[in-house]
Amino acid sequence: MNSPKKHYLQLAVPTPLRRYFDYLPPAGFPVENLQAGMRIRIPFQQRELIGIFMGLTEKSDVPTHKLKQAIECLDQKPVISSDILDLCRWAADYYHSPIGEVIATVLPAWLRQGKSTDISSKKSITRQDTPTTPLVLNAEQHAALLAIESSHHHFKVHVLDGVTGSGKTEVYLQAIAKVLERDEQVMVLVPEIGLTPQTVQRFRERFSVPIVCLHSGITEKQRYQAWLAAKTGTARIVIGTRSAVFTPFVKLGLIVIDEEHDLSFKQQDGFRYHARDVAIMRAHFNHIPIVLGSATPSLETLHNIHQGRFDHLELRERAGGAELPQFQILDVRNLSLEDGLSVPLINEMRQHLESGNQVMLFLNRRGFAPVMMCDACGWMAQCKRCDMRMTYHYGAASLHCHHCDSQKNLVKRCENCSAHDLQAIGQGTERIEKALSTYFSHYSIARIDRDSTRRKGSMDDILTRIQNGEHQILIGTQMLAKGHHFPDVTLVAIVNADSGFFSADFRALERMGQLLLQVAGRAGRKEKPGKVMIQTRHSDHPLLLQLLHENYRTFSHTILAERKQASLPPYVFFALFRAEAHQLEYATDFLQQLKNQMHEKKVQITGPLVAPMPRRAGKHRVQLLLQCKERPVLQRLLKNVLHHLEVIPVKHRVRWSLDVDPLEIF
Ligand code: ADP
Ligand code: ZN
Ligand code: ZN
Repeated sequence: MNSPKKHYLQLAVPTPLRRYFDYLPPAGFPVENLQAGMRIRIPFQQRELIGIFMGLTEKSDVPTHKLKQAIECLDQKPVISSDILDLCRWAADYYHSPIGEVIATVLPAWLRQGKSTDISSKKSITRQDTPTTPLVLNAEQHAALLAIESSHHHFKVHVLDGVTGSGKTEVYLQAIAKVLERDEQVMVLVPEIGLTPQTVQRFRERFSVPIVCLHSGITEKQRYQAWLAAKTGTARIVIGTRSAVFTPFVKLGLIVIDEEHDLSFKQQDGFRYHARDVAIMRAHFNHIPIVLGSATPSLETLHNIHQGRFDHLELRERAGGAELPQFQILDVRNLSLEDGLSVPLINEMRQHLESGNQVMLFLNRRGFAPVMMCDACGWMAQCKRCDMRMTYHYGAASLHCHHCDSQKNLVKRCENCSAHDLQAIGQGTERIEKALSTYFSHYSIARIDRDSTRRKGSMDDILTRIQNGEHQILIGTQMLAKGHHFPDVTLVAIVNADSGFFSADFRALERMGQLLLQVAGRAGRKEKPGKVMIQTRHSDHPLLLQLLHENYRTFSHTILAERKQASLPPYVFFALFRAEAHQLEYATDFLQQLKNQMHEKKVQITGPLVAPMPRRAGKHRVQLLLQCKERPVLQRLLKNVLHHLEVIPVKHRVRWSLDVDPLEIF
């Protein structure tokens, strides 16, 4: 008889290294009982860690006498199912992220800490009231529903492209109803600030099945319970933000991504995945349809439609007879402004308020003023660690750096010439709030930004008061722009639409267009037509005119044509190495040495260049941009170069990262 072969365990371990770690099986534990996805406790350097069993190997690169023995297997069944493991392997490969880091994103902290799986999943929600009945769909909604329905059990990407209020959510709800009838589960992903009680309420009102939510505001235990409810099939619908894309299901039948263009689907540190793209891959692996909904689809998605890869479903009108809002541009070059507000805007606000409606002002900048400047010598208050201007916060009587979060008391004198003439330049939400309280002292104002909603539950409180009509004037940042329904808002004003016009980021115009329409979408419902006023110094900018007087489609076509001309995404693929260090040379040297190892003519390499924000929190920042027309060529180069990374000598003095398909390169 042959002696049994020696087997080693291959484990994914939460470390930044891009490889598996080999271990000897735990003492007395039969290897044939191991299944991929089980947790194994191991000795690792001076401590114990929990790794995930990925498979067996008969040979290891580590000499046998150096291999350590695993301590114990924590599970009788895998905590990560095989389809999720496949997704993890794909994501680690595509984003060139360490598998251990990927798994740490996928597995609830409860399990990563080695806690018992033996806990009841979230209790199903019992109902008293009967579910709301589906609405009678209009022709376009009906066609969209049929298309989604016809691809069940097949992979297909459907883009549900319809203006705000065109009835996209109603289509999701009816598509979901069909999936539930087949006893399958549904995953719904929404942007970070889109997961409001209102969103969840709409689902709960329609379906009498258990629904769980996964977002950053829940405890680790609640997260694990919700996760378990999905994994065991108790939960039929999971509504979650970005990381919910890795939720396990018994039988997933449909994925819905609402506001697919939203930036919050992209993780901006650590494992830098894009939840929409991972979700598409997941639908592909699972042979199911996925619906990407948006009033302003991303240019990547539109490009995929043009290429015939995605199915285009359009909803061109607002549902239920509501009108689209009317736009008015206020050219502030010819108007005098008080605290950033023009007279025509104030007058229009007064009219809407006097008719008993609510008005909403949007300004994407919190605090009182973005600049504190000395009138005498021109000195500006700057963050010493970032070389960026500090924002003046009136309520806190302090200066904040919005880049590294450092704060200091408000300076009374110029640090350069000691003069007392410090001026607050420009507007933030706090300043607008203060100005409005003098213009409209009889009305109540709600300010919604990161500062006013810091306390847990405060956002919900403010939203409730708005719904109850306790506030008539709403002023806020983009937190106010997404996912909310304010039926009494008839006037929306964009205080300053200009940031998109002079940004160095080639995506700024696309973002500006998306945000403008998103904000505008808050105005007007069926009974009350809406108006949108836009203050700008670029009232004749062709793209702005196209957006407002034509539509997002022609606007986005123009931008796509420009991107093609300039060889920018989505026509080429980008990857970005970032490096930061206490000394500029360390970061530059590191990227230069990395670049020296790249020999692929099809990949264009720019840099190492100092990042557009050269210093943050005391560290110098440098970047290296790679662009290529062929994704596989770029992927191959990245794989090779990461392989050689270990030998770069200055590595330990530098913090570096790789961002595949970066959304922010400036
Ligand atoms: P979106 O998700 O595109 O913003 P919603 O699905 O929220 O749009 O629909 C906007 C409004 O129109 C909601 O109040 C909804 O109840 C209503 N609505 C949607 N579809 C219909 C329909 N077919 N008939 C009547 N009202 C509808
Ligand atoms: Zn001065
Ligand atoms: Zn700073």
